[in-house]
Amino acid sequence: MRTNRFMPELSTVRELRDRQLQGLQWTVNHALNGSSFYRKKLSEAGIGPSDLRSLDDLHRLPFTTADDLWEGYPFPLVCVPLDRVVRIHASSGTTGNKKVLCYTRKDIDDWAHFFARCFEMAELTTQDRVQIAVGYGMWTAGAGFQLGCEKFGAMAIPVGPGNMELQCQFLVDFQTTVVCCTASMGLLLAEEINRRGLRERINLKKMIFGSERSSEAMRARMRELLGVEHMFDIPGMTELYGPGTGLDCIHHRGIHYWADYYILEIIDPETLEPCPEGEIGEMVVTTLQKEGVPLIRYRTRDLTRILPGDCPCGSVLPRHDRLLGRTDDMIIFRGVNIYPRQIDKILSQTEGISCEFQITLDRRDDGRDYMIVRVERKQSVDASQNEALSRMIAARIKHSILVSAEVRVVDYGSLPRSERKSKRVFDNRD
Ligand code: ZN
Repeated sequence: MRTNRFMPELSTVRELRDRQLQGLQWTVNHALNGSSFYRKKLSEAGIGPSDLRSLDDLHRLPFTTADDLWEGYPFPLVCVPLDRVVRIHASSGTTGNKKVLCYTRKDIDDWAHFFARCFEMAELTTQDRVQIAVGYGMWTAGAGFQLGCEKFGAMAIPVGPGNMELQCQFLVDFQTTVVCCTASMGLLLAEEINRRGLRERINLKKMIFGSERSSEAMRARMRELLGVEHMFDIPGMTELYGPGTGLDCIHHRGIHYWADYYILEIIDPETLEPCPEGEIGEMVVTTLQKEGVPLIRYRTRDLTRILPGDCPCGSVLPRHDRLLGRTDDMIIFRGVNIYPRQIDKILSQTEGISCEFQITLDRRDDGRDYMIVRVERKQSVDASQNEALSRMIAARIKHSILVSAEVRVVDYGSLPRSERKSKRVFDNRD
């Protein structure tokens, strides 16, 4: 039986936009009253709540950036007295900088509510058993999965990441139906289940992948090894509550995002102008109900695009594509903008290779840049195929991205795997 308890009570785009405008006005007013940082920023831009008469006025608001969060350490951009803060989380940040975010009671309740919506979107029922194999603690938001799962009413199995022994045991003993993890870990788990010959003894139906881009090839491999019915992408960042800010429905035509909680804009990261619908650009988010640390046009550095048209599921909630990389992952190689995902896509459409790859960029003595793509041969394919495979892949890269790459096919299992995020691009050019 399908429930409908957590979807917004909105049936038209018009209603959604009205809700967004109210939320935007509330947010700007709240930020002005609650934070000297925002007060200064808004007064410099010469804009206040009364200037926001339609959603088009959003573009007049100034951007907020990661720097603003770092500079305000330890409690940046907080807009409520600290005695109203019931929890903090932080993003670890790859550069050692920590972005700390404060949550009020309402923020935590809202997060739980829209996280429960993720499980509803994935068509779980209270019969489902959800193995939560993501990290718990300060940096990571297993807490979000946990809250959402309990709010939804399914059985949460809070096992945490790693520990394949335990994961496999629980999959068999508890007859887990849904696993939430990173795609890298999902692949390790699939390979482990295969190795142990457990496939017939488990009851896994769905997987929900967070915090990392998962490639088509990884998904295909997991589907082959586990036979799961559905794989979902769950986006999320600590700045915007945490994971759970959207999910693809069972039609898998992009990620429905919770537009009643935040506005998503896509801008060109160079010009800062809005991108036309359907074009790839940087995600910029503005929260509509967040009390602790509201975000006004926060530049996420994540790349995606808004998907035009309606989804077959009929939801009024709009969709964005999977995350296509970070603005800072973008490789500029011989004058061409390349996203690692484009290489990934080519590889996933090529027979005879596994889903692991690495891109290395070098500048050689001739002063020119070189791209080396290392790709693993499939276990079942013989090394005598290396030459032919590398020629074929290089031709496909040339054809679709218009750059020349040196492709090296390596033995299956020789590229490093990780339970967390695998680093795939190594830029040695400077
Ligand atoms: Zn849909």
